Amino acid sequence: MNIVLLGAPGSGKGLISDFLESNYNLKHISTGNILRENIKNGTPLGVTAKEYMDKGNLVPDELVIDMLKSEITSSDNGIIFDGFPRTLPQAKTLDQICKIDLAISVEVPKEIVLDRMLARRVCEGCGTGYNLKTYSKNTCELCGGKLIKRSDDVPEVIENRINVYNEQTASLKDFYSIQGKLKSVDNSKDAETTLANVKSHISLIK
Ligand code: AMP
Repeated sequence: MNIVLLGAPGSGKGLISDFLESNYNLKHISTGNILRENIKNGTPLGVTAKEYMDKGNLVPDELVIDMLKSEITSSDNGIIFDGFPRTLPQAKTLDQICKIDLAISVEVPKEIVLDRMLARRVCEGCGTGYNLKTYSKNTCELCGGKLIKRSDDVPEVIENRINVYNEQTASLKDFYSIQGKLKSVDNSKDAETTLANVKSHISLIK
Protein backbone atom coordinates (compact mmCIF):
# COMPACT_ATOMS: atom_id res chain seq x y z
CA MET A 1 0.00 0.00 0.00
CA ASN A 2 1.48 3.33 -1.11
CA ILE A 3 0.02 6.59 0.19
CA VAL A 4 0.67 10.19 -0.83
CA LEU A 5 0.08 12.97 1.72
CA LEU A 6 -0.82 16.37 0.32
CA GLY A 7 -1.40 19.41 2.50
CA ALA A 8 -0.09 22.89 3.20
CA PRO A 9 3.02 23.26 5.35
CA GLY A 10 2.04 22.76 8.98
CA SER A 11 -1.21 20.97 8.12
CA GLY A 12 -0.21 17.82 10.04
CA LYS A 13 1.29 15.47 7.45
CA GLY A 14 3.89 14.45 10.06
CA LEU A 15 1.21 13.40 12.57
CA ILE A 16 -0.52 11.22 9.97
CA SER A 17 2.80 9.79 8.76
CA ASP A 18 3.76 8.72 12.29
CA PHE A 19 0.37 7.05 12.71
CA LEU A 20 0.60 5.20 9.37
CA GLU A 21 4.19 4.16 9.98
CA SER A 22 3.46 2.54 13.32
CA ASN A 23 0.01 1.08 12.55
CA TYR A 24 0.41 -0.17 8.98
CA ASN A 25 4.12 -1.01 8.89
CA LEU A 26 4.78 1.47 6.08
CA LYS A 27 8.06 3.21 5.35
CA HIS A 28 7.91 6.98 5.88
CA ILE A 29 9.69 9.03 3.23
CA SER A 30 9.67 12.75 4.03
CA THR A 31 11.57 14.64 1.34
CA GLY A 32 11.80 17.67 3.68
CA ASN A 33 13.49 15.54 6.39
CA ILE A 34 15.93 14.01 3.88
CA LEU A 35 16.82 17.46 2.55
CA ARG A 36 17.37 18.79 6.10
CA GLU A 37 19.60 15.77 6.81
CA ASN A 38 21.63 16.66 3.70
CA ILE A 39 21.94 20.25 4.90
CA LYS A 40 23.09 19.05 8.34
CA ASN A 41 25.72 16.80 6.74
CA GLY A 42 26.89 19.51 4.34
CA THR A 43 26.42 17.37 1.21
CA PRO A 44 26.43 19.08 -2.24
CA LEU A 45 22.66 18.45 -2.44
CA GLY A 46 22.21 20.04 1.00
CA VAL A 47 24.22 23.13 0.05
CA THR A 48 22.10 23.69 -3.08
CA ALA A 49 18.78 22.82 -1.39
CA LYS A 50 19.39 25.23 1.51
CA GLU A 51 19.25 28.24 -0.79
CA TYR A 52 15.73 27.31 -1.89
CA MET A 53 14.49 26.08 1.48
CA ASP A 54 15.60 29.17 3.43
CA LYS A 55 13.36 31.26 1.18
CA GLY A 56 10.47 28.80 1.29
CA ASN A 57 10.79 27.90 -2.39
CA LEU A 58 10.74 24.42 -3.87
CA VAL A 59 13.99 22.59 -4.56
CA PRO A 60 14.24 21.88 -8.33
CA ASP A 61 12.36 18.78 -9.51
CA GLU A 62 15.35 16.91 -10.94
CA LEU A 63 17.24 17.07 -7.62
CA VAL A 64 14.28 15.95 -5.52
CA ILE A 65 13.26 13.21 -7.96
CA ASP A 66 16.78 11.70 -8.03
CA MET A 67 16.90 11.86 -4.24
CA LEU A 68 13.51 10.17 -3.93
CA LYS A 69 14.41 7.38 -6.35
CA SER A 70 17.44 6.50 -4.26
CA GLU A 71 15.21 6.05 -1.18
CA ILE A 72 12.88 3.46 -2.72
CA THR A 73 13.91 -0.20 -2.67
CA SER A 74 12.20 -3.33 -4.03
CA SER A 75 11.86 -4.74 -0.50
CA ASP A 76 9.64 -1.87 0.71
CA ASN A 77 6.33 -3.20 2.05
CA GLY A 78 4.56 0.08 1.31
CA ILE A 79 5.45 3.74 1.50
CA ILE A 80 4.02 7.00 2.87
CA PHE A 81 5.14 9.85 0.65
CA ASP A 82 5.18 12.89 2.93
CA GLY A 83 5.82 16.15 1.04
CA PHE A 84 6.28 14.45 -2.31
CA PRO A 85 5.01 15.06 -4.97
CA ARG A 86 4.82 18.86 -4.86
CA THR A 87 4.66 19.54 -8.60
CA LEU A 88 3.01 17.90 -11.60
CA PRO A 89 6.31 16.52 -13.01
CA GLN A 90 7.00 14.94 -9.60
CA ALA A 91 3.51 13.37 -9.52
CA LYS A 92 3.90 11.97 -13.03
CA THR A 93 7.32 10.53 -12.19
CA LEU A 94 5.98 8.93 -9.02
CA ASP A 95 3.23 7.23 -11.02
CA GLN A 96 5.93 5.65 -13.21
CA ILE A 97 7.89 4.40 -10.19
CA CYS A 98 5.10 2.83 -8.13
CA LYS A 99 1.34 2.37 -7.88
CA ILE A 100 -0.26 4.93 -5.58
CA ASP A 101 -3.33 3.55 -3.77
CA LEU A 102 -4.50 6.65 -1.96
CA ALA A 103 -3.78 10.39 -1.83
CA ILE A 104 -4.86 12.10 1.39
CA SER A 105 -5.28 15.86 1.33
CA VAL A 106 -4.86 17.25 4.85
CA GLU A 107 -7.06 20.34 5.18
CA VAL A 108 -6.53 23.06 7.80
CA PRO A 109 -7.50 26.78 7.67
CA LYS A 110 -4.56 29.16 7.12
CA GLU A 111 -4.82 30.85 10.57
CA ILE A 112 -4.43 27.48 12.32
CA VAL A 113 -1.51 26.50 10.07
CA LEU A 114 0.30 29.76 10.90
CA ASP A 115 -0.30 29.32 14.62
CA ARG A 116 0.95 25.73 14.58
CA MET A 117 4.06 26.48 12.57
CA LEU A 118 5.15 29.26 14.90
CA ALA A 119 4.78 26.87 17.86
CA ARG A 120 6.46 23.95 16.07
CA ARG A 121 9.75 22.44 17.19
CA VAL A 122 11.43 19.46 15.53
CA CYS A 123 13.89 16.88 16.79
CA GLU A 124 17.37 17.51 15.43
CA GLY A 125 18.00 13.76 15.49
CA CYS A 126 14.93 12.01 14.05
CA GLY A 127 12.82 14.88 12.68
CA THR A 128 9.75 14.20 14.87
CA GLY A 129 7.61 17.32 15.23
CA TYR A 130 6.26 18.78 18.51
CA ASN A 131 4.01 21.71 19.40
CA LEU A 132 5.23 23.95 22.23
CA LYS A 133 1.66 24.39 23.44
CA THR A 134 1.27 20.67 24.18
CA TYR A 135 4.88 19.56 24.79
CA SER A 136 7.10 21.53 27.14
CA LYS A 137 10.36 19.49 27.21
CA ASN A 138 13.30 20.46 25.00
CA THR A 139 14.31 16.90 24.07
CA CYS A 140 12.60 14.32 21.85
CA GLU A 141 10.60 11.64 23.67
CA LEU A 142 11.52 9.08 20.99
CA CYS A 143 15.29 9.49 20.61
CA GLY A 144 16.34 12.08 23.20
CA GLY A 145 17.52 14.47 20.44
CA LYS A 146 17.49 18.24 20.97
CA LEU A 147 14.35 20.10 19.81
CA ILE A 148 15.00 23.04 17.53
CA LYS A 149 12.98 25.61 15.58
CA ARG A 150 13.21 25.06 11.83
CA SER A 151 14.89 27.97 10.06
CA ASP A 152 11.94 28.12 7.62
CA ASP A 153 9.33 28.30 10.43
CA VAL A 154 9.54 32.11 10.62
CA PRO A 155 6.65 34.39 9.53
CA GLU A 156 8.07 35.75 6.25
CA VAL A 157 9.15 32.29 5.01
CA ILE A 158 5.95 30.60 6.22
CA GLU A 159 3.88 33.07 4.16
CA ASN A 160 5.86 32.19 1.02
CA ARG A 161 5.65 28.44 1.69
CA ILE A 162 1.86 28.67 1.92
CA ASN A 163 1.74 30.66 -1.35
CA VAL A 164 4.06 28.15 -3.04
CA TYR A 165 1.79 25.34 -1.86
CA ASN A 166 -1.32 27.04 -3.26
CA GLU A 167 0.37 27.90 -6.57
CA GLN A 168 2.36 24.74 -7.29
CA THR A 169 1.05 21.85 -5.20
CA ALA A 170 -2.67 22.28 -4.45
CA SER A 171 -3.58 21.43 -8.07
CA LEU A 172 -2.25 17.90 -7.48
CA LYS A 173 -5.56 17.28 -5.73
CA ASP A 174 -7.12 17.34 -9.21
CA PHE A 175 -4.41 14.99 -10.51
CA TYR A 176 -5.35 12.34 -7.91
CA SER A 177 -9.05 13.12 -7.93
CA ILE A 178 -9.27 12.32 -11.67
CA GLN A 179 -7.67 8.96 -10.87
CA GLY A 180 -10.32 8.37 -8.15
CA LYS A 181 -7.65 8.24 -5.45
CA LEU A 182 -8.18 11.49 -3.52
CA LYS A 183 -9.65 11.66 -0.01
CA SER A 184 -9.67 14.72 2.25
CA VAL A 185 -9.16 14.82 5.98
CA ASP A 186 -9.99 17.84 8.16
CA ASN A 187 -7.15 18.26 10.67
CA SER A 188 -8.37 21.43 12.34
CA LYS A 189 -9.72 19.64 15.41
CA ASP A 190 -8.31 16.89 17.63
CA ALA A 191 -5.79 14.29 16.44
CA GLU A 192 -8.07 11.34 17.35
CA THR A 193 -10.79 12.51 14.94
CA THR A 194 -8.25 13.10 12.17
CA LEU A 195 -6.65 9.67 12.57
CA ALA A 196 -10.03 7.91 12.75
CA ASN A 197 -10.89 9.50 9.38
CA VAL A 198 -7.55 8.43 7.91
CA LYS A 199 -8.22 4.88 9.12
CA SER A 200 -11.65 4.79 7.50
CA HIS A 201 -10.23 5.99 4.15
CA ILE A 202 -7.59 3.27 4.28
CA SER A 203 -10.17 0.59 5.01
CA LEU A 204 -11.84 1.43 1.68
CA ILE A 205 -8.72 0.86 -0.44
CA LYS A 206 -9.46 -1.92 -2.91
P1 AMP B 1 8.68 20.09 4.43
O1 AMP B 1 9.53 19.56 5.53
O2 AMP B 1 7.93 19.02 3.70
O3 AMP B 1 7.82 21.24 4.88
O4 AMP B 1 9.69 20.71 3.33
C1 AMP B 1 10.58 21.76 3.67
C2 AMP B 1 11.16 22.36 2.39
O5 AMP B 1 11.90 21.35 1.69
C3 AMP B 1 10.14 22.88 1.38
O6 AMP B 1 9.73 24.20 1.69
C4 AMP B 1 10.96 22.80 0.08
O7 AMP B 1 11.89 23.87 0.01
C5 AMP B 1 11.76 21.52 0.29
N1 AMP B 1 11.05 20.34 -0.25
C6 AMP B 1 10.58 19.27 0.46
N2 AMP B 1 9.99 18.39 -0.36
C7 AMP B 1 10.09 18.89 -1.61
C8 AMP B 1 9.65 18.46 -2.90
N3 AMP B 1 8.96 17.32 -3.04
N4 AMP B 1 9.93 19.24 -3.97
C9 AMP B 1 10.62 20.39 -3.84
N5 AMP B 1 11.04 20.88 -2.66
C10 AMP B 1 10.79 20.13 -1.55
